[in-house]
Amino acid sequence: MHFSGFKIIKEALTGHKGWKPTWRTPDPKTEYDIVIVGGGGHGLATAHYLAKVHGITNVAVLEKGWLGSGNIGRNTTIVRSNYLLPGNEPFYEWSMKLWEGLEQDLNYNAMMSQRGILNLCHSDAQRDAFARRGNAMIMAGADAVLLDETGVRDMCPYLDFDNARFPIRGGLLQPRAGTARHDAVAWGYARGADSRGVDIIQICEVTGFQIEKGVCKGVETSRGRIGAKKVAVCVAGSSSRVMEQAGMRLPIESHVLQAFVSEGLKPVLPGVITFGAGHFYISQSDKGGLVFGGDIDGYNTYAQRGNLPVVEDVCEGGMAIMPMIGRARMLRMWGGVMDMSMDGSPFIDKTPIEGLYFNGGWCYGGFKATPASGWCYAHLLATDQPHPVATEYRLDRFRRGRMIDERGAGAQPNLH
Ligand SMILES: Cc1cc2nc3c(=O)[nH]c(=O)nc-3n(C[C@H](O)[C@H](O)[C@H](O)COP(=O)(O)OP(=O)(O)OC[C@H]3O[C@@H](n4cnc5c(N)ncnc54)[C@H](O)[C@@H]3O)c2cc1C
Repeated sequence: MHFSGFKIIKEALTGHKGWKPTWRTPDPKTEYDIVIVGGGGHGLATAHYLAKVHGITNVAVLEKGWLGSGNIGRNTTIVRSNYLLPGNEPFYEWSMKLWEGLEQDLNYNAMMSQRGILNLCHSDAQRDAFARRGNAMIMAGADAVLLDETGVRDMCPYLDFDNARFPIRGGLLQPRAGTARHDAVAWGYARGADSRGVDIIQICEVTGFQIEKGVCKGVETSRGRIGAKKVAVCVAGSSSRVMEQAGMRLPIESHVLQAFVSEGLKPVLPGVITFGAGHFYISQSDKGGLVFGGDIDGYNTYAQRGNLPVVEDVCEGGMAIMPMIGRARMLRMWGGVMDMSMDGSPFIDKTPIEGLYFNGGWCYGGFKATPASGWCYAHLLATDQPHPVATEYRLDRFRRGRMIDERGAGAQPNLH
């Protein structure tokens, strides 16, 4: 079924009887070429690119809940490629390029909106760091504009420029960044994969791996054993728990991250604004709600809900930078479980167990990575070689001393 303006008009005039389900509901087969564990954004994108780019369609995506129940449907939808380090920036810029053509590729409206992201700076040292970051971005083919205080005032006159502790001195703008509707991304990838023959199997939890003499031959699930030549895990916040079933310990801890949305307001924010000094970020949805968040809750958990101290901390961050937010009413909040890696960067790699692959450690930045993560994981699964933009995302990088510590915070997951 092809979506088009013509199709919408036709259905509107004929009682909407011609729409079909977006994907099938097949029963699992006994054996696949590739089984993907986790039907989040990354798992579904991997399935789509395996089928579309590599022609591998004997694939199943196993999801323990329903599609979109994990972080893909819980994030604050920010898409950007404003990274500094050579291990990261080419990967995220490749993701950005895939985002720019995603809706055409999927024939699905993901509400991609390139309204820009503005990182505020509050000191000369921070401005110097942003100049360096902007230059690194431009060298990797991305876009970056360094704004002075007047430039920021022109965009957002309502910010608290004279805040006693964090006066705003300028900002780093990436005009091509923005937001996309998160669950539409999951649905679009699911539709793309399903239409090429991939089986998407919901309510199917992987409970163990069949490992014989160091080779992974399939998975145990709540719907029975499923054989596979290759098993590709990408379960985000559940990474440690799932890989523990294969006897692996990961350099990952799980923490909860909360998000908040206000009542609908008239358009007030030009794009995404981040306040790094206090860790607060905000954008405005198409419905008018202010969508914002801040730090992770500082304890390990697998619960998809947070606690009140972070609610207070995030709201204080908002008030510090944008006092007018105090007049808006908060509508709702939710949490998702983050797979926080020790250096804040992800993994897309083979494991020491033959036939078992791992994708995770996305921290709270994995939504923007969805297209490139799927593309590169599909490449790894199809060719057994890392994709050129993802060569540094190896599981053994801590042992080799090759951390990708973008924030320079050290090996401390709750600081990344
Ligand atoms: C509040 C919040 C705000 C965020 N904001 C942003 C943002 O603005 N920009 C950004 O880039 N990133 C953001 N993120 C991070 C981003 O959402 C994640 O990094 C990314 O979605 C993780 O990849 P995923 O979509 O594949 O994860 P998920 O959607 O969580 O997919 C993993 C799936 O695996 C399934 N699963 C787990 N265990 C099993 C099992 N045993 N068997 C079968 N299936 C299993 C889960 O049910 C889940 O559906 C945010 C996250 C949160 C929670």
